[in-house]
Order: sequence, then C-alpha cells, then structure tokens
Amino acid sequence: MADVSIYCASYSEARRRFIDAARASGAQLAHYPHPHARGPGGEALFLDAATLGRPDAPNVIVIGSGTHGIEGYTGSAAQSAWMADGGARRIPAGTALVLLHALNPWGFAHGQRVTEENVDLNRNFVDHTKPYPENPGYGELHPRISPEGWDEASIVGVFAALDAFRDRYGEQAFSDALNGGQYSHPDGLFFGGQRAQWANSAFRNAVRTHAGHARRAAIIDLHTGIGPYLDHVFLCFHEPGSPAYERARAWWGERAVNRQGSTHKALAHYRGLLIDAFRAELPQAETTAVVVEFGTRTRVEMQRAGISLRWLRCHEQRAPELARAVRAEYVEAFYPSDPRWREAVLAQSRVFFDQAVAGIGS
Ligand SMILES: [Zn+2]
Repeated sequence: MADVSIYCASYSEARRRFIDAARASGAQLAHYPHPHARGPGGEALFLDAATLGRPDAPNVIVIGSGTHGIEGYTGSAAQSAWMADGGARRIPAGTALVLLHALNPWGFAHGQRVTEENVDLNRNFVDHTKPYPENPGYGELHPRISPEGWDEASIVGVFAALDAFRDRYGEQAFSDALNGGQYSHPDGLFFGGQRAQWANSAFRNAVRTHAGHARRAAIIDLHTGIGPYLDHVFLCFHEPGSPAYERARAWWGERAVNRQGSTHKALAHYRGLLIDAFRAELPQAETTAVVVEFGTRTRVEMQRAGISLRWLRCHEQRAPELARAVRAEYVEAFYPSDPRWREAVLAQSRVFFDQAVAGIGS
C-alpha cells in the first residue's frame, strides 16, 4: 500500500523530500534558482531536476510537477514516492528519467495555479514576438466572472453568465473562451502573459540541458483537476494516427489517446502548452508528450475554485475571514486531503511511470 505520508504541506518540505529521495536513489541533481521571486516565508525558489540513470542515455523520459503551482504538491508526491519505491532500479540501460520538480515554484509555494505575474504557465509557451492569439469570448466573460463580492448571490450570478454564454455559443466555444487562454486581461483567468515567464525559460533550459542529446524523448506533465475522483485522465494532443500518437497508445493503452474520463465535454483548443515547448526544444529527437490529470472535483466546482482565486487576489484584504474559507476551498479543489485519493494517485502514477520507462526502451 502506498504511503501517503510522502505528501507535504509546504513547498520547502516537498522540495526537501524530493532532494532526499533523489540522493538516496543515486540521482544527479541540478538546480535552477529563481532570480527574485520568494516563497511566503521569504524562502528561495527553484526548479530542481533529478536525473536517474545515465545522463547521456539516448532515451530520456521527463516527468514534470507543478506547471500549475499548487497542483505540484501531488506531482511532487508521485515523483518522490516513485524514487522511494526503488524506481531507479527499474530503469534499463539506455534510458534516463529526468524528474523536474516545481516547474512553477512560486505558484507551488504560494498555493496557486499561476506564476508570480498571475500567468498560467501552461498558456505562456506562445511566440511572444508575434501578436497574441485573440480570445474575444474571454473578453465578453471577464466582467461577468469578476465579482466584487464572494457571496452566494454573486456566485450564482457568475454561473448564470457562464451558462448563458454556453447556451448561446455552444460547449466548444465556451471552453475555448474560458479555458483556452487569453492574453488581454492580466488580472483575469487563464492569462497567458505578455512575456515569457522565468519558469518558461527555466523549463526550456532544463529540457535542453538534460534531454538535448536524446534520440527518443518523452514528457509526462502532471496536473490535477480534470477527471473523475480517484482516477486520472491522459490528455494527448498528437495528431490521431501520427507516430507520436501511436507511441502514446502503445505505451499506455487506449486511454492515453481517447480522453477517457475527461470532465470537460469539449476540451478547449489550448494555446501555449508546456508540452509543445518540450517538442520544439528537441528537434533532434522523436518526442512523445502527454498531460496526465488526476481528477479531483466536478468541472463546476473547479470553475468556482478558479474564479475564487481572482476574487481572493483582488479582495482578500477586505474580508480576511471569508478569504480564509475561500482559500481552504481552493486548496482542497486542487490538492485533496483525502488519504484515499492520495493513495490512488501514488498507485496509479507508479504504473504509468513504469509504462513510460518500458515503452521508450521498446
Ligand atoms: Zn493543471
């Protein structure tokens, strides 16, 4: 049975656990310090990389945690548990596994999805020298999902606006508008930023450093928040029938490509995903890239949590007691405390980590 004591309550604790597990596994460690952002206690923040197996191996699997800050508590536990469970001994010659810990360390430390600039890192990997993609649907929604108060009446109003938009434009347009990413409202939701975030550059640098030599490279980007409770969903954006798509299917089965269990009726056309940058940074390699989401709450509850973060950021000072309750609900939505849930994550991640190791060497 998986040991849920590996789950941590702070970034510093999770980082210490990760580094300890990496050292005990004989991993090579590299650290990418954030030049100025700090944690809530003033602590320094890092993207850490642990390489298991020979660093020059031709097959490299990258597993990342914390693209969406707070979701990193779960990804970090999966990474550390896999190492503590002797994962390194299951890596064959010719393969290396690179665990990237806290891809967005500011969000991880501060318990939020976004970076220190309110940027959704997983919408930030666009070409910042070109005009940004437009998202007029988001512009229409923004004022309706930015309430001054966070009481039941305000929340009902927010969801009435979301429902009206969906009724009018359909499920796909709704997902694109709300979740696809927007580059026009820096204080809004799913804001992709107006410059590359530090975490963007650090990720690219780490990928080039640890996988730049690879002939075959794969990434699993770990998240929480989409999918059924106690289960996980693969999000694969490879062209159906393409070699990368077929590799994902061969390694992890049909569920890697059929979006089994997704709680989004129509998945948004996302812009600026981290896994796209992974492939772009490794033109020499045959690449396979997937996102894995551990399901937590219903989509409506996740929307409520996402919208509440904006309210918290803008209005927390005015209502500290309410803010504490809203914040606790936010944390629980992205990082459930239920030991059964935490155990399920460890059991499932062990399986698909191992499947990646077996797949890339096959
Ligand atoms: Zn996420």
